[in-house]
Amino acid sequence: MASTDQAVVCEGLVRRYGERRALDGIDLTLKRGQTLVVFGPNGAGKTTLLRVIATLLRANEGSVSVLGNDLRKNGREARSEIGFLGHSSLCYADLTARENLTYHARLHGIADPDERIERLLIETGLESRGDERVAGYSRGMVQRLAICRAVLHEPELLLLDEPRSNLDPAAIDQVEALIGAASGRSRVIASHDPAGGLEEADLVLGLRAGSPVMLAPAGELTAEQIGELYR
Ligand code: ATP
Repeated sequence: MASTDQAVVCEGLVRRYGERRALDGIDLTLKRGQTLVVFGPNGAGKTTLLRVIATLLRANEGSVSVLGNDLRKNGREARSEIGFLGHSSLCYADLTARENLTYHARLHGIADPDERIERLLIETGLESRGDERVAGYSRGMVQRLAICRAVLHEPELLLLDEPRSNLDPAAIDQVEALIGAASGRSRVIASHDPAGGLEEADLVLGLRAGSPVMLAPAGELTAEQIGELYR
């Protein structure tokens, strides 16, 4: 497997939906272990960027690599290093939480996953409901399970689309070790929270209608400047 100090590199990345350029020339480098927070109003392209990096969408132009793996050539290797938490949970409603996680573990070839699954269910406060079908879960419970799923295979890179949505304050604290800075992982986070997002960022990307209108180290920006993206 390729090894590099760079978690994510995008060069001239363009993604179109028909005529619309959802991402219009993104160039960025995120170092391993660092956090990129992506801001921008609804429709700016944040989710599209995360989905391209996650290999769920292809770039139309330019290149993306994850931990040294060019997604066009080594998508499979990159995928094993990526934990994706999107707007939909990617969990099966007809299965229980334990069954969903066991299935995900099998997909990733994790041997003997039971202990890790139990630990994650405990860490996210789901252990007593782990044998219930996900169809009967509240939104916050589904989000907790989606977080378990995203980190189960111990990915180096986390792609997190508004990861704390639907979580109560206790759950936000509970999942910090899994998806927060304390996780020690490289992270790309889509956020609408200028102050909170800036706090956990090393690097900030601001998008407006697909264009990168802001790219700077977090220390050079204020929450007010990020708030301007939304005006
Ligand atoms: P939000 O803050 O609302 O989640 P976002 O910044 O994540 O928005 P995207 O979901 O990436 O924005 O959308 C970027 C642009 O691409 C929007 O103009 C959107 O309408 C368009 N788009 C996204 N998905 C599709 C699709 N499947 N088909 C056509 N257009 C799409």
